[in-house]
Amino acid sequence: MLTTVVDNYPGFAEGIQGPDLMLAMRKQAERFGTEFVAEDFTEGNFSSKPFKVTAEEKTFEGKAVIIATGADTRWLNVPGEKEKIGKGVSSCAPCDAFFFKNKKTIVVGGGDSAMEEALVLANFASEITVVHRSETFRASQIMQDKAKKNSKIKFLFNTEITKILGDEKVTGVELKNNKTGKVSKMDLDGVFVAIGHIPNTIKFKGIEMDEKGYIKVKDHTRTNIDGVFVAGDVHDSHYRQAVTAAGFGCMAALEVDAWLRKTAT
Ligand code: NAP
Repeated sequence: MLTTVVDNYPGFAEGIQGPDLMLAMRKQAERFGTEFVAEDFTEGNFSSKPFKVTAEEKTFEGKAVIIATGADTRWLNVPGEKEKIGKGVSSCAPCDAFFFKNKKTIVVGGGDSAMEEALVLANFASEITVVHRSETFRASQIMQDKAKKNSKIKFLFNTEITKILGDEKVTGVELKNNKTGKVSKMDLDGVFVAIGHIPNTIKFKGIEMDEKGYIKVKDHTRTNIDGVFVAGDVHDSHYRQAVTAAGFGCMAALEVDAWLRKTAT
């Protein structure tokens, strides 16, 4: 819902706007009788059966549950960021790099995602600076090497973004060197934030998670609770693409169908 043109979802030769893709998926599911409840999810209680899921004031019961709450981009939370998402601020170079053809951009972060974003951007942007708050990268050596070999990619260490500048769209950033305290400005067109993701798992009591909060999966789509399944970025920190999440959704649905048949007998 937050992205603009999606060029990497199969079936759309010319790409499709993110919200349009979501609306089409919703309509397709409605055609088969899916009921949508537009309420914020509050809590999942899987300690007894039927499982209970609360959305604001309403409670729903189910014999099986698929958790597909995704992961949110970890944003910088600096002034000027939130209102410019889609207007120069992005967290997805494969989705948005095309719009920065011959433009100046920065990528914030020091992990593999930051290197990958920078490498994707290098196919379009004229200049990319990876801005990292620490002295050394967390990214794998191979990804660092790839980025360092690319003449368009430059690096700035010990530096934090303190403000994103511009009225309607991004025109620059304010930076602070966290060693010297020196504040400076950089004119640019795009800010790509690649500082990790936060899986939306906080409200699932009793579900096993890894050290980063992603749901642990066993046997393809199962969680530690029999009858509770999982799909998408809420358990997958590796691929994190719309098409892989949709694929996991299909897998989980097939597993639920088989599980319901088996447990009904
Ligand atoms: P990550 O490895 O957790 O790295 C996050 C980076 O963001 C760190 O360098 C961290 O800085 C920085 N950071 C965190 N919070 C920040 C903040 N508030 N302000 C500024 N910087 C901040 O996350 P990731 O790069 O998204 O990777 C996640 C996992 O996916 C990793 O296991 C990675 O290997 C994998 N992955 C693999 C590939 C690939 O193989 N092609 C591609 C993408 C991701 P510090 O270092 O100072 O803590």
